[in-house]
Amino acid sequence: MRNLAVLTSGGDAPGMNAAIRAVVRTGLSHGINVWGVYQGYSGLIEGNFKRLGARDVGSIIQRGGTILGSARCPEFHTEEGRELALRRLRGAGIDGLIVIGGNGSQTGAEALHSMGFPVVGVASTIDNDLYGSDVTIGVDTALNVALNAIDNLKVTASSHRRALLVEVMGRKCGYLALMSGIAGGAEAIVLPEVDVPPEQIAERIQEGYERGKPHAIVVVAEGARYNAEGLCAYFRENGLLTGYEFRSTVLGYVQRGATPTCADRLLATWLGSSAADEIIAGTTGILVGTSKGEIAKTPLEEVVKGFKPLPSWFLKAAEMLAR
Ligand code: ADP
Repeated sequence: MRNLAVLTSGGDAPGMNAAIRAVVRTGLSHGINVWGVYQGYSGLIEGNFKRLGARDVGSIIQRGGTILGSARCPEFHTEEGRELALRRLRGAGIDGLIVIGGNGSQTGAEALHSMGFPVVGVASTIDNDLYGSDVTIGVDTALNVALNAIDNLKVTASSHRRALLVEVMGRKCGYLALMSGIAGGAEAIVLPEVDVPPEQIAERIQEGYERGKPHAIVVVAEGARYNAEGLCAYFRENGLLTGYEFRSTVLGYVQRGATPTCADRLLATWLGSSAADEIIAGTTGILVGTSKGEIAKTPLEEVVKGFKPLPSWFLKAAEMLAR
């Protein structure tokens, strides 16, 4: 291998920059040219490449987002789009690609790999819904942002004796809601994976009120049947929750743009560097993630078909601890 390319794709995640830096510097340490592809798969199709030196990735380890930019690229779903991307890669003399991203991005990576191009994926998404890695780049930072918000909201909820519904990101996966809810001591956690009737949630909150609790925090996953606004509206329309005054807050994109935590910088550095080592050694068609504290290499075709369940102990604990 002489020329390695790297791109970030799909939803950005804090730590992507640390992963880019690790890929570039590991590649350079092997005497290989490393190219940045701008704007994800769109940049691949447009041939938007730039050769990166060690200095180009200086002082980015602490920055959220991605210096390469990211995009959602519908054209890459088509055979013609991917053929064009392959022509661009081969035309530039690139002989391997590292894809830093989540589920959709790794599906694109697997498609490219199955067309005969060497690709290695790096597990990165704040949602933690990617099969093949216990934890993905960006999760720890997103969790900490959500947790800080929950802690702050609890203070104001207590002052005013309110019930606060806090909506956290995660698309169809409840991981961020579950873990930030447990760490934040939430009274109830609403997940896409467990369909609890709103009446039951209201009942639980009301019980807490009657026992003299000064606040109620309900962490709601954005992908749940009712999001925070929807649940608030349901409570209002059905005359539920007469004790507390209630409000909803949507955390949204603040969870994605934060400064990466130490854990995310280390994870991204480890995965990025290991992915570069793998592709340079001739491995292709795998996702690099972690499992039980070690690097895990999972075939991309397994990754795209796989399903990662929520951690079962925490699911049970959420029920037991919310008293
Ligand atoms: P994430 O990687 O964060 O899950 P997306 O689901 O938006 O983000 O996927 C990012 C990009 O990956 C898409 O815009 C598209 O270019 C590419 N992609 C997603 N699914 C496929 C697919 N089935 N085939 C080819 N490319 C895909």
